[in-house]
Amino acid sequence: MRPEDIKQAIADSLPEGEEICQFIPDVHSERKNYALAVTSHRLIICKKGFIKHNYSDYPGIRLEKVLLEEGFRRSTVTLEMKGGEKLNFERLDKDNARTLCGFARTMISEADSRASVAIKICPDCGAQLKKRAKICPYCEYKFGEKTSG
Ligand SMILES: [Zn+2]
Repeated sequence: MRPEDIKQAIADSLPEGEEICQFIPDVHSERKNYALAVTSHRLIICKKGFIKHNYSDYPGIRLEKVLLEEGFRRSTVTLEMKGGEKLNFERLDKDNARTLCGFARTMISEADSRASVAIKICPDCGAQLKKRAKICPYCEYKFGEKTSG
């Protein structure tokens, strides 16, 4: 799959109105090669397999912290997720690294401000939903219903 095709496959999988803000066709993490797409709501990491590519979705709402380590030519970005998972992107082009950090920080602050408004956020994909929504239209997450009595 060419980088353009990966980008297109990711774009096609997004909910309507959500677009890719940044696409990095080659990121290194733990000695492996990935493609990374950033939207206003999530990070999508594509693990480039020999036969099939695997896509992982990291909702912005799960992001906790962004760390930028700038080297002489290359930078490392570490994204900490709620729950302790860490994503480490190494040897990034400096501009890419800064842009990525910018988007990640925006996602964190927006998730924080949205959480304080009288709406609810889907815990699975980070979408902003009406309070009475019982099912998320984006990822089909079902909100628990207490049926006591
Ligand atoms: Zn959802």
